[in-house]
Amino acid sequence: MKIFKFGGASICDAQAVRNLLSILQNKENSALLTVISAMGKCTNALEHILTLKNSNQKYAPSIDRFQKYHWNICKELFDSDDHQIFQDLDQLLQDLLQNLNREYVNQDKMYDQVVPFGELYSTTIVHSFLNHSGLVCEYLDARALIITDSTYKEGKVRWDVTKKTINKRIDKLKSGYYLTQGFIGSDQYGNTLTLGREGSDFSAAIFASCLDAKLVTIWKDVSGILNADPERWEQTKKYDNISYGEASEMTYYGATVIHPKTIRPLAVKKIPLLVKSFKNPSAKGTLISDCKHDMLPPAIIFKKNQCLISFQVRDYSFINESKLSIIFHLFEEFNIQVNMMQSSAISFSVCVDSPDIKMKSLINSLSAEFDIFYNDHLELVTVKNCNHQLVSTIKKGKNILLEQRTRKNYQMLVAT
Ligand code: ASP
Ligand code: MG
Repeated sequence: MKIFKFGGASICDAQAVRNLLSILQNKENSALLTVISAMGKCTNALEHILTLKNSNQKYAPSIDRFQKYHWNICKELFDSDDHQIFQDLDQLLQDLLQNLNREYVNQDKMYDQVVPFGELYSTTIVHSFLNHSGLVCEYLDARALIITDSTYKEGKVRWDVTKKTINKRIDKLKSGYYLTQGFIGSDQYGNTLTLGREGSDFSAAIFASCLDAKLVTIWKDVSGILNADPERWEQTKKYDNISYGEASEMTYYGATVIHPKTIRPLAVKKIPLLVKSFKNPSAKGTLISDCKHDMLPPAIIFKKNQCLISFQVRDYSFINESKLSIIFHLFEEFNIQVNMMQSSAISFSVCVDSPDIKMKSLINSLSAEFDIFYNDHLELVTVKNCNHQLVSTIKKGKNILLEQRTRKNYQMLVAT
């Protein structure tokens, strides 16, 4: 059993969907489950529709554009206008409108009843096109397979029941094709839930873990995992092999090439993850596995939209363990990830993603005890496996608010 995952860019138009078909046609003689996300930027489009609706603005034109975008792709993929797919698109639109117009008490629940339509449209179209092209493929509804708790927008996977359900439904020994949605699942009451933005990689990892897959391949528009974003750094290098540990750290610091939750389930089962270019399927890509390496070439990771918050004691005492524990307790309670931290005698500073509504509540809770300082519009730059020369090049001309160096890594928080 192998798992493929295709993201939005790899199915953004008819030509891209044809390219997907040709990649699938080269399958080896084992079962293959393909997980796809929404086409192009459709998840953003659906989020935008929700924002318009929630602020009482006109959203009908945006719905029309959303429908037309999929309709145009189908028009190019299917030779005849009376192919069943066009009725399927009408039905999807009815369902989308129905979900959009229901009354919701909980905004996050509303999000999870609307935004998954990106994946429902994409899988319906791709499934239909594959079969239309003679590639027999079984459609699976991920909501009947990935079972989560009821935390809307960030469903937590219930692994035991998910594993049982998946194995009951999928015959991993049958050497056929399966197709399903990334990003979505459902809770025990049958409500649709999403797993967090960009969560399709994680879906692929969930299926792989539950099915003890041999390999997961994530098809991207880049040649593999690079040591920096080519738009920000000139001489990027591609890693041929990296360990689960290195890859997971990179995602933690902000590398967006794979979703941060993807590595763990694969590493536990030692399932290798291949990151490859859908534009150049025969090129080697990057293999993430249980490998060992000494020092890898440095990686430079840029994480935008950061803020720096400093908590300063008021009573001429020091930042001691009890003060730290008050602060950390609230970070845990509000479920806020700290990206970097530093403490001095009278002040403790943290760097977190912004804007974060939860952060405002945390600041309110601590304002009686501390003077709190806040800087926004910052970028966190992490250099993994750094060397002196690279660090001084990177620092040149930057307005650095906080910096830190460990044995292998360098981090700085800079004003943008
Ligand atoms: N379509 C979803 C998103 O854009 C999930 C994904 O792409 O992985 O966030
Ligand atoms: Mg995506």
